[in-house]
Amino acid sequence: MKILANRMDLGFQKHQAEYEEAALRVLRSGWYILGKELSSFEEEFAAYNAVKSSDNKESSFCCTGMSGACEPSNIYCAGLASGLDALWIGIRMLGIGQGDEVIVQGNTYIASVMGITMNGATPVFVEPDENSQIDIDAIERSITDKTKAVMVVHLYGQVTDMTRIVDICKRHGLFLIEDCAQAHGAMWKWQKVGTFGDVGCFSFYPTKNMGAFGDAGAVISHDPKFIDEVKTYRNYGSHKHYYNKVVGANSRLDEMQAALLKVRLKYMDEITDERRKLAKRYSKKLSNPEIITPIEVDDSYAVWHQYVIRCKSRDKLIEYLKDKEIGSIIHYPVPPHLQEAYAYLGHKEGEYPITEEYANEVLSIPMYNGMTEEEQDYVIDALNSYRA
Ligand SMILES: *Cc1c(COP(=O)(O)O)cnc(C)c1O
Repeated sequence: MKILANRMDLGFQKHQAEYEEAALRVLRSGWYILGKELSSFEEEFAAYNAVKSSDNKESSFCCTGMSGACEPSNIYCAGLASGLDALWIGIRMLGIGQGDEVIVQGNTYIASVMGITMNGATPVFVEPDENSQIDIDAIERSITDKTKAVMVVHLYGQVTDMTRIVDICKRHGLFLIEDCAQAHGAMWKWQKVGTFGDVGCFSFYPTKNMGAFGDAGAVISHDPKFIDEVKTYRNYGSHKHYYNKVVGANSRLDEMQAALLKVRLKYMDEITDERRKLAKRYSKKLSNPEIITPIEVDDSYAVWHQYVIRCKSRDKLIEYLKDKEIGSIIHYPVPPHLQEAYAYLGHKEGEYPITEEYANEVLSIPMYNGMTEEEQDYVIDALNSYRA
């Protein structure tokens, strides 16, 4: 049986008629940039993130509250051209730049770090915990008088203790930036990621849980003024046609992607449920002492963008899986501090041993909407029979 690491076609096919209808609606509308599709998508995506799960109405809403009233209903959204732009522009609009430090976990995708460095700010790396999330204890040790923000990356669709992180940011007067590119709909104590801090940054790259059919991204915030500034910035800094307030960028989420994303958004709960079932099944059935499986920590609601195992003989395992026609992906083989692009930061091999160890051991096994139990069992059997 041939099993790919990821599949995007099945999600389209499942609701094909609706996607095609949305695409045709845009094509026939004669309006392709900054129109009704985008503004309605922004409202719907804000509402999706504002909702606190009915499972737990009592617990209080938790956020830094540095920008805007900290209330669940108070969430605004601006669509952008990509997840990287969401990070870049989101951080820029917080006023973070040259000479400022942003604390971020070392084992993230390079785009998280680029969002910091594109603004001239300096990333300060900390190690991940045993679940690949930022090591919360290491955050406070890394704070200096230059620190302006903490960026939390909800890596692989997992969520860490946001109550503790919000508390640290509040006590030290730091902005909290959330990189939610892999975690649409994930929750901590039934509160959606992206709503804990000052800006929540999303990617809708096609492979993400909430994928568009091209590049797209968005930021959310509790502060309507902040969102207005982002909307001005994304359109050449123009708040009114041909009147430019600031030197901005061209980073608009187009009408076609917005219309298609509105369809995807309707099915997000279904998409997340299915991924959670697949992950639960993996965790229950994988039983190879040479393989460490990921966990969902108490009070978190993971959306399983990836199901990432760890294995000491990872490269051998990849070859073994290849022989059985099972795809897998390393997220990520080279951590940002060791990338050629960041040689100028002057980091050395061995500086972040846990980050580096994870880069050598992590492996994302097949996980996609539309995966059958038969396909999953084939992967499980193969993994359980593996010996280094
Ligand atoms: C995908 C991703 C991004 C970048 O999103 P793009 O839309 O590809 O620019 C940023 N951060 C993380 C963690 C990602 O996985």
